[in-house]
Parts: sequence; structure tokens; C-alpha cells
Amino acid sequence: MLYIVPTPIGNLEDMTMRAIRILKEVTLIMAEDTRTSRRLLDHYGITTHMRAFHAHNEHAVTERIVDELSSGVTMALISDAGTPGISDPGFLLARACQRRGVRVECLPGPTAFVPALVSSGLPCDTFHFEGFLPHKKGRQTRLKYLAELPHTFVLYESPHRLMKCLEELSTFCGPERQACVARELSKKHEEVKTASLTELKAHFGAKDVKGEIVMVVAGKEKG
Ligand code: SAM
Repeated sequence: MLYIVPTPIGNLEDMTMRAIRILKEVTLIMAEDTRTSRRLLDHYGITTHMRAFHAHNEHAVTERIVDELSSGVTMALISDAGTPGISDPGFLLARACQRRGVRVECLPGPTAFVPALVSSGLPCDTFHFEGFLPHKKGRQTRLKYLAELPHTFVLYESPHRLMKCLEELSTFCGPERQACVARELSKKHEEVKTASLTELKAHFGAKDVKGEIVMVVAGKEKG
């Protein structure tokens, strides 16, 4: 049995009671960065042994982990923040488990794109999750594709690329397109600002932007 366990994206109180119990009960926790997760586990008095599972070793260790799971070991997968598999390692392991008949259970819990999307005030009945855009090759192609979508889309972006991203979105989607910058969600300096791309450029261009960012962009209007 593999449990996929979401962890807080900023506010430690967002850990669910079930997540704490599962992390205490499993034999092994696979963590993206064991030092980062140690702080969380210590905070909740979780003493379960941890092993590293990250983008650099997931290809090499996935089959061995599924062997262990098949032999009856119960494990949990966590990432540094939010839900594993969402712009984080997790997909390869979930797929390998499903293919080999190992039960996978993902607990409901924190992820950055849901609060960003819902608090943006942009339509959230249908949406596209893009995650991180490629930094160089393929970036323009993705932006061109996203600009034509008829529904809201969601991007993950780093603070030092925010202005570049707003410029590019303005070029491809037009300066009047509505968008939202959701910054530092669930943390002390949370900021969620929805406006046109022009207004967002003026607002965020005037200050030194720090923290983690989700961008939500309205879909292209018909006609
Ligand atoms: N697995 C995570 C999830 O479920 O959302 C995402 C991990 S991804 C490596 C990290 C990115 O998520 C950040 O660069 C940022 O775009 C977004 N993010 C994570 N925490 C955030 C927060 N508290 N506020 C805004 N964005 C956040």
C-alpha cells in the first residue's frame, strides 16, 4: 500500500489529522528532501524513518520501491510542500504501483493551485492546469497554445520570472486580459491580486517581489 500524503504549502496548521496518523503508522516515508521534511515531522512528533525520493533518483529507485510495497511494506510519499505529483515527483511511482497492482491512496490536502484558482474570482468551473512553463525551448509554443484556451488556466512561476511572465502573457493574450497573481498562499504575507495584465505589471513592477507564486489567467473570450 502506498499513501500519497499532501503537506502544508506554508501554514503548518494545514496538516490534516489523517495525514499525521498515516505518517506515524507507515513503515517508511519517502520524502523529496529529508531535511525539509524533518522540520514538519518533528513539529508533529512523527518519528517514522525517511528515505529520499526526488526528481534525480525517482527513475532509478521506482521499481525497487514497488518491489518493497508488493512484499507488504506500507509507505507514504511526501514532497517539500503540497501534493506529490503536482509539479513534484509522484507520477512515476503512482503509475508503477497501478501497473503492478499495488494499492495507491492519495489523501486530500494542500496544493497551491486550488486556493489560487478559487480566490482569484476568475471562472473555475472549467480550467487548465499548466504548472511550470519551460524556461527556454518550447516556452513560446506553450504560451501561444494557452492564449487561445477558452477557459481559465493556471501557471506556477518563480518570483524572479514574474515580470517576464506578465510581459509574455500580455503579448500573447493581450494587455486587457484578466489575470491573478496569488503569492505566499496560507503564509503571513499572502497577497491575491486580480486585475488586467497591464495593471498587474504596474503593481508588481513597482516592488521587489518575493515568495512563491501561482498565476491564474482568464480564458480567451469568444468573438
Ligand atoms: N506540489 C506542490 C503543489 O501541490 O502545489 C507544488 C510544488 S512546485 C515544486 C512549487 C511551486 O508551487 C512554487 O514555485 C509556486 O509556484 C507554487 N507554490 C507552492 N507553495 C505556494 C504558496 N504558498 N503560495 C503560492 N504558490 C505556491
